[in-house]
Amino acid sequence: MPLASLALAPPDWDLPSNVMAWVSGRKGGVSSAPYESLNLALHVGDNAASVHANRRLVANALDASLQWQWLQQVHSDKVVRVNTPVPDIVADGVITSAPGIACCVLTADCLSVFFAAKDGSEVALAHAGWRGLASGIIANTVQGMSVPAEQLLVCLGPAIGPCHFEVGAEVPETFLRSWAGVIPAAAIADCFHAVAGTPKSMADLFRLARLQLAALGVQSVAGGSECTYCEQDKYYSYRRSGTTGRMLSMICLKPAL
Ligand SMILES: [Zn+2]
Repeated sequence: MPLASLALAPPDWDLPSNVMAWVSGRKGGVSSAPYESLNLALHVGDNAASVHANRRLVANALDASLQWQWLQQVHSDKVVRVNTPVPDIVADGVITSAPGIACCVLTADCLSVFFAAKDGSEVALAHAGWRGLASGIIANTVQGMSVPAEQLLVCLGPAIGPCHFEVGAEVPETFLRSWAGVIPAAAIADCFHAVAGTPKSMADLFRLARLQLAALGVQSVAGGSECTYCEQDKYYSYRRSGTTGRMLSMICLKPAL
């Protein structure tokens, strides 16, 4: 199976030559409806054998020698550093400086945030739904890395866009409370557009992530333009479909030869 039919590279992201990063699409796998077809998550009700077959397809297409670090994602602000893969880590961010360890995040609307040191010494990946974003998963990842923020290259993966991410009043209230004194309230308020006649608003996760990254001193941020709900041929979307599969975001330092 050619890699191009399984996976989509994060767009317009110039990486050090020893770093590899990918986002999977939904095509090219073996899962049947409603998970068709490249579902890579075991926790969504799909047949486990299909998920493992899909994971093997991706592993063989990317690099069969990779060691896979999966996370038990819980919408937290917890980031772990791994140098050898550890099963069942409960966390929403992972950092490694060890070549050959594939840092993995599974999403279907939540934002995945990729991090690479400019000198190719370290990579990280974070799972950022609105709760994780509000509680500081990006800040904890940036601060957990060995290189300063200005030496980081960051890319935002696909996520549900401001065209489709309707949220209740508690979401802007949580961001305003959590980021008071760090990000101006007016800038946070600009990430939410009121839905007329309701207390709801349309939230822009990409913009919220960019505001936080700028406040943390990160200067290089790519990606952040594709809506998973809109792009139904390419991506799973929980908001669009309910029961559905998950895409893989993956970053690693390439295995040593
Ligand atoms: Zn959309």
